Amino acid sequence: MQRRTKQRSAILRVLREEGRPLTPEEILRQGKKEVPSLGMTTVYRSIRAMLDDGVLVGIQYPGQPTRYEVPAPEHIHFICNRCRQVYDLPLPQEEATLSLPSGFVAEGHELIVYGRCPDCAPGRPGAV
Ligand SMILES: [Zn+2]
Repeated sequence: MQRRTKQRSAILRVLREEGRPLTPEEILRQGKKEVPSLGMTTVYRSIRAMLDDGVLVGIQYPGQPTRYEVPAPEHIHFICNRCRQVYDLPLPQEEATLSLPSGFVAEGHELIVYGRCPDCAPGRPGAV
C-alpha cells in the first residue's frame, strides 16, 4: 500500500514537473530518477488506476502514442509539426460559443494548435 502510494505520487510529480502530456515510456524514464525500482508494469498499472480515479486523463491524437496528463482546463495543447512533441501551454481560453445541432450537449472542448515549438522554429540550427 505504502509502496503503491509512493509510486503513484512519483508519477504524478513527474507529470506536474514536466508540465506536458507524457507517454508511459517518458513517465518511466523520469520516474526512475525518483523511484529506481519503478518498472513498466507498475507504470501501466498506476496509470490505469489513476485513470479510473479521474486523477489522470489520456490524450490520443492521430498518429501519436497515447499520452497522459493531470487534467487542467486552463491550457491548450500545442503539437509541433516537426518533432511531434505535445506541449501544454497555459492559455486560458474563452468558453467557445458553439451552435450545436439540437440533441447535442457540450460537456467540454479542447483546442489543439499545430505549429513549430521553439526548438524547431524556422531559422534555428537544425530546423528545416
Ligand atoms: Zn518541435
